[in-house]
Amino acid sequence: MRGIPKVLVNTPDIEVWPGGLLRARSNHDARILSRATRVLRRKRDGRFLAAELPEGLMPLVHTLPREPGLDEALDALDRHPAHARVGLERVGELPLSRLRERLDALGLDDGYGERSGLSLVAEPDLLAFAGVDRFRRPLWLLHGAARAWSHMQADALRDGIVLESISGYRSHDYQLGIFDRKLARGQTVDEILTVNAAPGYSEHHGGRALDIGTPGEPPAEESFESTPAFAWLQANAGAHGFVMSYPRDNPHGIVYEPWHWCWRGG
Ligand SMILES: [Zn+2]
Repeated sequence: MRGIPKVLVNTPDIEVWPGGLLRARSNHDARILSRATRVLRRKRDGRFLAAELPEGLMPLVHTLPREPGLDEALDALDRHPAHARVGLERVGELPLSRLRERLDALGLDDGYGERSGLSLVAEPDLLAFAGVDRFRRPLWLLHGAARAWSHMQADALRDGIVLESISGYRSHDYQLGIFDRKLARGQTVDEILTVNAAPGYSEHHGGRALDIGTPGEPPAEESFESTPAFAWLQANAGAHGFVMSYPRDNPHGIVYEPWHWCWRGG
């Protein structure tokens, strides 16, 4: 897979992943994925839909021709040939129309944005590989945020501080999935909103937000605020363009998140 740019090409329903980053769920998939230059992945549930092989596109589901959003994904493949250099600085945004329909269905109209002071965050159409997170999953961020994160991590290390990423870019579909699962467990939308930003309103959708941890600390817990890593971030993250989005008693009504930092550069 050497030579293929590590870029996530994003379309409304389907992500195009570079080959070699995804773990197969079956031996059959593993053999195909090991040869794939790129893989089409359904955003809603992570299902692998097709593999781009040297001899052509191989379907991994029988229903591929009827897959919603396939045409856009194939257009994206054509627009970004596998071995071409991708201009990661020229990032566009995906439309918000489909998200608005899903929010209406959840009973979340524009009133939520007005009450919380949060805005809808569009997904970028290109994301850069920013290394792996604490759980060895690929981390995706906007190109500028990925560079800033890498510099900040190195800078911290020189001061003896290990910063780990816990989570970066997340799709609207991913956040909608969190809501669907919690609703299915009997929580109300209002209860979920005290912990999770409404789908579409999370800074993670834009590829600028990063949840940060440090070894030995549980991920995304308030106790992170008493670590040397947090003290280091408070003193130095600003110089790298990162801002803590949800301090205590923030006006958005989101719980205090000392681990959540957003890149405001670029
Ligand atoms: Zn976060």
